[in-house]
Amino acid sequence: MKRRIALLLVGGMVAAGAILSPPVEHLAQAGSGGGTSASVSGTTLTITVNFDLCCTTNAAERTIYGPLIQDEVRAAENLWNQALAKLLAKGCFRIAVVFSEHLLDKPNWEGGYHEISIDFIHPGRPYSNDLTPGITHNDDTAWVYNNTTTGSFYESSMDIGTWAHEIGHLMGLGDDYGIDHALGGHGGSLPLPGRGGTMMENHGVIDQNLADRLADIATKAGVKLPSCWKGTITSTSDRHYFDGGANYMCSDAWTGTLSFIVVGQGTVAGSGALNLQGTAVCQAPGAAGGTHGLPPEVQTLNFSVGGERTTTGFDLQFNITSIFPPQPGSIDVAGIESLLSTSACPHLPGPKLSIPFDHPNHATGSPVLNIKLVQGCPKSPTELQIDLFSSTSTIVLNGP
Ligand SMILES: [Zn+2]
Repeated sequence: MKRRIALLLVGGMVAAGAILSPPVEHLAQAGSGGGTSASVSGTTLTITVNFDLCCTTNAAERTIYGPLIQDEVRAAENLWNQALAKLLAKGCFRIAVVFSEHLLDKPNWEGGYHEISIDFIHPGRPYSNDLTPGITHNDDTAWVYNNTTTGSFYESSMDIGTWAHEIGHLMGLGDDYGIDHALGGHGGSLPLPGRGGTMMENHGVIDQNLADRLADIATKAGVKLPSCWKGTITSTSDRHYFDGGANYMCSDAWTGTLSFIVVGQGTVAGSGALNLQGTAVCQAPGAAGGTHGLPPEVQTLNFSVGGERTTTGFDLQFNITSIFPPQPGSIDVAGIESLLSTSACPHLPGPKLSIPFDHPNHATGSPVLNIKLVQGCPKSPTELQIDLFSSTSTIVLNGP
């Protein structure tokens, strides 16, 4: 739960009477660095949440709850990281989170740490505060990046999902349910449209929407995100089979997307996927040839995108990362491998693809490739096939 209404009240109290020392101290830190921060390294945006939990009241409580709190916060951190590892924020980069909690035995709040009161005994509904004027508990804000916020957690009422949800607020996320009953439970509230069953609604799934919002909040906080290039690929490909005395041609068509960021001195890092359109059509030679499909067909090829940005464009290089449906051997449809690899056995990344800039934030290229690939990983030399693979592609890239 993210309490906004109560915060407006606290803000009012501070404005009305500066003798209320805790809020004044709190506000004095505003703008001097918050408990939440983010940094970009390579292709990953790392969000760090520092928070103090106050306080254990005696040695016994510390012995019991010290390790427990650590376990709970680590589990919440893992929940976020395991989900975020499978998502590309803004279609381009990874997000990782670091939750750094200090369990205090005295209210010696640290600078740069959110100030969360914790009750180990009594049940209650945890919340954190946001003083940003005019926002609702549903709004995302960068408040936590510029301020050390306050709140109250009730350990005995919090499972791992609750910890993950509450720390979600400390990353700036708003609630994804409507009708906030300030002192009630989540019961009776309704999910925002399309948000039912998600982490900021009912402690459920951490989805693409949340990854993108975390990126947006970091941007709002002034963090410079990795610049993202996105593009499309359309390809037609052919494979000329020569194995076993056969001599026939298979053709197919693919469409796909790719995205990448440019790291450091121009190194490209990203990923993409190609999807088979229709079926591979094979033509045997001669009048009796006819056409037939070539089972089993690969439907989707996932690949990584590497290479570099030069002064004139991109030199991209693709490398197959997974094949759906998974095939025990190599790809068995037409010639798209000529775009994705320079050898199927051993597997090697594809050829360099030159995609020149036609505008500062736009590049287009049409690589035409004709290569012989050693196909299949033979147990004996007789299993080697050498077929001709060719592809014609159009790659269009849009930059930031
Ligand atoms: Zn909430």
